[in-house]
Formats: sequence, C-alpha cells, structure tokens
Amino acid sequence: MGVYEGFNLKPCPFCGNAEIILSITDCGDNGRDSADIAICGDCGAVGPWGNDEQHAVDLWNNRIVRSSHEHK
Ligand SMILES: [Zn+2]
Repeated sequence: MGVYEGFNLKPCPFCGNAEIILSITDCGDNGRDSADIAICGDCGAVGPWGNDEQHAVDLWNNRIVRSSHEHK
C-alpha cells in the first residue's frame, strides 16, 4: 500500500485525509479484467470505479465536487 504522488487526488471529503491510495482490483464485472478505484487510507471511503488509474482519479475528484451540491 502506498500513496500515489503522481496523481492529483483531492483530500477525502469525509475525514479530510490527504493520503488517498489507488487500488487495482480484478473484478470480472462488466466485461473488464480489472478496474481502478481510489480509497481513503484513513476512513476507507471509496470513489467510483475507473477504467484506469487516471480515470479513477478523475472520478474521485469530480465526485467530491458533485456530492457537495447535487442530489443525483
Ligand atoms: Zn477518509
């Protein structure tokens, strides 16, 4: 486990922890061999699944913005 400093991950919206990690998981769902997901190293909050590391990072960062004022 480690911090991915090469990616610009925003701090956790739930606990404020800035050490967000990326995990690559073999999921077998949706026809994919694997998927990436951002996980808070402190409270364990997880972001949406991404097709690759950068996608997972984008989803994590975007979710923080959306979740603050959207209901969808
Ligand atoms: Zn957290």
